[in-house]
Amino acid sequence: MVLHYPGGIDLTEYGIEIPVAPDRTQQVLDALTAGSDSVADGAEWLSGPDGSTIGRVDLLRVHAPPYVERGFGPGVDELMIEVFELRNDDGSYHRYNPGAAKKPLSVLFDGWIRWMSGTYQCGKEALRNGFCFYLGGGAHHGHYDFGHGFCVFNDIVTAIRKLQAEGSVTSAWVIDVDAHKGDGTAALTADDPAVTTLSVHMAHGWPLDLPDHDRLGRPAPWLVPSTIDVPIAAGEESEYLPRLRRALTTLAESPRPDIVYVVDGADPYEHDELPSTASLRLSLQQLLERDEIIHSFLATRAIPQAWLMSGGYGRRAWEPFAGFLSATMAK
Ligand SMILES: [Zn+2]
Repeated sequence: MVLHYPGGIDLTEYGIEIPVAPDRTQQVLDALTAGSDSVADGAEWLSGPDGSTIGRVDLLRVHAPPYVERGFGPGVDELMIEVFELRNDDGSYHRYNPGAAKKPLSVLFDGWIRWMSGTYQCGKEALRNGFCFYLGGGAHHGHYDFGHGFCVFNDIVTAIRKLQAEGSVTSAWVIDVDAHKGDGTAALTADDPAVTTLSVHMAHGWPLDLPDHDRLGRPAPWLVPSTIDVPIAAGEESEYLPRLRRALTTLAESPRPDIVYVVDGADPYEHDELPSTASLRLSLQQLLERDEIIHSFLATRAIPQAWLMSGGYGRRAWEPFAGFLSATMAK
């Protein structure tokens, strides 16, 4: 099953100038339905939101109450400016032109909550049918009392906690292959043996090159290790897949979980257009092999797998997602 959040979130409607192609979801859908031999032809494979939304109570299982409440009150504009990093140190705007906005940032916040609900729904579908891919989700930079890297809240941990609270799962793995380290997920689950995290990411660069203490002088939560971290330095692309395989072998030593979330970033792609991902340049073939390794590793073990889109920026970000889904759905 593929889940789709119709319309997506188009940041340009809010005056935000970040190069997430607003149509990458549509491009994936177009690729899957194109041609007479469409893999999706005739099959019941696509679903929209089912109304199971994330609410305050779900957010409060994961995030600090004062932080959550900012989003629901007059502090929402400033919250979104922080999370989307729209202000320079001198107070001027960065990648943000309020004059070009058609909608206020509070509408973006509301849409964001609905969007992150898809991650929970993806988990429910994976538990029912073994596999689900959500064309959204993967906000792995959401932390306890702040967000960064365009992640207001952490949808992955929020979904796991909701599934646990309703008794659907006890334990979970998170396999994160986005180019950026899954720092929020690692920090939010660091003390919880029920959640095992694996992150394969750029060895250097954001968020790992941020200061080692936060603004309040606390040890930086973005440096909290995952259960298994696999850093890949510039020029080590040929080592990527062997290291992923070894890491999965290590992960398999943990008790079998009830569900796995795969944070399937396309931003390690050599054609990604976000400047901060330039040090990791996997080919399309390597990305498709990456995803196949993970998919078959989980399928062999009959572990329900919930996949999330996460990063992937620019005109060709849709290609790895479409390639993986075409191959998987054709089986
Ligand atoms: Zn990323």
